[in-house]
Amino acid sequence: MGRRLAYSRRLFPFAVGVTSNVARRRQIYEGKAKILYEGPEPGTLIQYFKDDATAFNAQKRGTISGKGVINNRISEHIFTSLAAIGVPTHFIRRVNMREQLIRQVEIIPIEVVVRNVAAGSLSKRLGIEEGTQLPRTIIEYYYKDDALGDPMIADEHIACFGWATQEEMNDIADMAIRVNDFLSGMFAAIGIRLIDFKLEFGRVYDGDYARVILADEISPDGCRLWDMKTGQKLDKDRFRQDLGGVEEAYQEVARRLGLLQPEEESAVLDLDSHRKKRGK
Ligand code: 5GP
Repeated sequence: MGRRLAYSRRLFPFAVGVTSNVARRRQIYEGKAKILYEGPEPGTLIQYFKDDATAFNAQKRGTISGKGVINNRISEHIFTSLAAIGVPTHFIRRVNMREQLIRQVEIIPIEVVVRNVAAGSLSKRLGIEEGTQLPRTIIEYYYKDDALGDPMIADEHIACFGWATQEEMNDIADMAIRVNDFLSGMFAAIGIRLIDFKLEFGRVYDGDYARVILADEISPDGCRLWDMKTGQKLDKDRFRQDLGGVEEAYQEVARRLGLLQPEEESAVLDLDSHRKKRGK
């Protein structure tokens, strides 16, 4: 073990420890809200959280100041808590304000949406009023393909095109329900109603044996979170619908989760405006 670490430090002196140097790492992938870099060890990646925000299949673009910092913290908190209740995830540890070390996975090209209350595309598609409590939790699947606009799919499509096996889909559905139960309770405890959210999963290999683990992130970018008392939206819908107060809503979620001390709130925003002024 000691030998392996010493070896890694020689090979990746910049990536071991608490800080990391983005400029010297190889970029693996850039998404709309995150960048993936090569990690310090084989089978690991660094996930970098950007402030960029997109909506409606990237037709609407913008920046939410400090979002990357807050989503990094919120996702760390949630993935750590999920691991503690036995949900396997790609998260290893947070490295700094905007980065976390994760396990490299083979992403399963399916977005898993869990819904407790009607909103968004469900309300639009089926004409059900936003805010209607669903009599049972619904799990939906969407094919991850930006060019196609992430179309909704059925189990039949997943089986037919071999995107995941039946066994993997059973594990995914089980994990999605466990995540929903946990998150619903966690958010209810801080006065937030979990309306719906999106999950992504990936495969890790142990020899020939593949296992499915939770990947990506869980943050207000991919969840609908409504204040229980006022119904106020505390998620990316504020950006999608031009409701204003987007940064404040993300901060409010982090603050209620106990992840942001009052003095840090302005620091998150100031840091970002500082970077912008320097043209970074
Ligand atoms: P809807 O299908 O109603 O637009 O979205 C359902 C839930 O999944 C919402 O919480 C939404 O934020 C999340 N979601 C669906 N697709 C995406 C996506 O491509 N990116 C992100 N960040 N969240 C998504």
